[in-house]
Amino acid sequence: MNIANPLTARGNDLTHIIETDRAHIWHHLLQHKALETTDPRIIVEGKGIRVWDAAGREFIDAVSGGVWTVNVGYGRESIANAVRDQLIQMNYFAQSAGSIPGSLFAEALLDKMPGLSRIYYANSGSEANEKVFKMVRQISARHHGGKKWKILYRERDYHGTTLANLAACGQPERAALYGPLPAGFVEVPHCLEYRKQWDVEDYGRRAADAIEEVILREGPDEVGLLCLEPITAGGGVITPPEGYWERVQEICKKYNILLHIDEVVCGLGRTGEWFGYQNFDIKPDFVTMAKGVASGYAAISCMVTTEAVFDQFKDDPSDPLSYFRDISTFGGCAAGPAAALENMRIIIDEDLLGNTKRMGARLTANLKALMEKHEVIGDVRGIGLFQGAELVADRKTKEPVDEKLAQKVVAECSAQGVIIGVTNRSLPGMNNTLCLSPALIATADDIDAITNAIDVALTRVFG
Ligand code: PLP
Repeated sequence: MNIANPLTARGNDLTHIIETDRAHIWHHLLQHKALETTDPRIIVEGKGIRVWDAAGREFIDAVSGGVWTVNVGYGRESIANAVRDQLIQMNYFAQSAGSIPGSLFAEALLDKMPGLSRIYYANSGSEANEKVFKMVRQISARHHGGKKWKILYRERDYHGTTLANLAACGQPERAALYGPLPAGFVEVPHCLEYRKQWDVEDYGRRAADAIEEVILREGPDEVGLLCLEPITAGGGVITPPEGYWERVQEICKKYNILLHIDEVVCGLGRTGEWFGYQNFDIKPDFVTMAKGVASGYAAISCMVTTEAVFDQFKDDPSDPLSYFRDISTFGGCAAGPAAALENMRIIIDEDLLGNTKRMGARLTANLKALMEKHEVIGDVRGIGLFQGAELVADRKTKEPVDEKLAQKVVAECSAQGVIIGVTNRSLPGMNNTLCLSPALIATADDIDAITNAIDVALTRVFG
């Protein structure tokens, strides 16, 4: 068999690549029937905020690798070099031993996370979240007689793809047919004010009070963890209303419940702060992160926690099960933290947090201007370069647009050379929020090109 060089497999080889893809690739989250009528998208090259497909078509990538990942943009030679140098020096050793980049990245990261002091390396967002769930169960077993074992998650939030993460999934379609799922995961209501569940002034506080109601129903002594996205991503780009987080923090303190913030999408830098929770007054006990940690140049995720949590796993000679008996073969393997360290240096040196704030403000202004022009945009939400525009068939009733029309807007943007996203189809009427999350290096021209494409697409689809 002649193995082609993937870097030169463009143009001429396209037919072969597509045929092979159709014959052998099981794509993530895709109904393959779609590939009977369209070709799979095969991306072969990236530079800055742009990518090229195998046919040589150029796109502005307004979703950073499809799923909020490539925060510092494509084609970063310095990250590739850092990974290369590290792999040649020391590619792998299990994390019961340490590594130079592992230590250095921990130091750099924790410097940005006051109050947190311990990092546990893993490979994916799902895995990092699962570590938290396991820790909470172990804390319950060792320190609360097994009683404080329940884990609260929020309607519309998503935390990953394993069975425990699906048990903690607020998007029913994701979990359907995969049961029975692990027990002890309990849902609290979403906090999207645009789709109000309570007719009150102080909506943030009311939505947080709903969490307390669930805690009281379940028994405060039985609840060990509250797991939340700082801004819900795939569930609709939901920025919690004012007052929400203060109340959430109060409730967690009152009932001695650990607070876990899932920063897999918001970290690092997506909202213009290092982490999403830093936009609010939150002191989490656990923070997990993955996608933007190394911008997709290497697989790495992190679970970060406090010394107080770490102390609960102190060795007890009388108890052989006292320490955290968990391992992840590739978690923290040296390419990950080496890439993450360079990724972080780029964010600092190029002031990408500042750029995200500035370009985020421009994106919000452009989307709000589109909302004036297009009745179909019912709401614009998000912070920094993490924004969503919810499409509705009727502004008064807020009836969602037909999911196929939302998909059509995405396709019309793609036809103009701009890749945008749309939220997951997990709740009735939920697949209708356009998602925008370009790399943090986006310029004003990039932002305008993205919103211009949406403008044209909305006109084509809705008139
Ligand atoms: N948490 C959030 C908020 C996510 O959006 C995702 C993935 O999209 C995950 C966790 C799971 O991360 P991974 O796909 O790396 O397992």
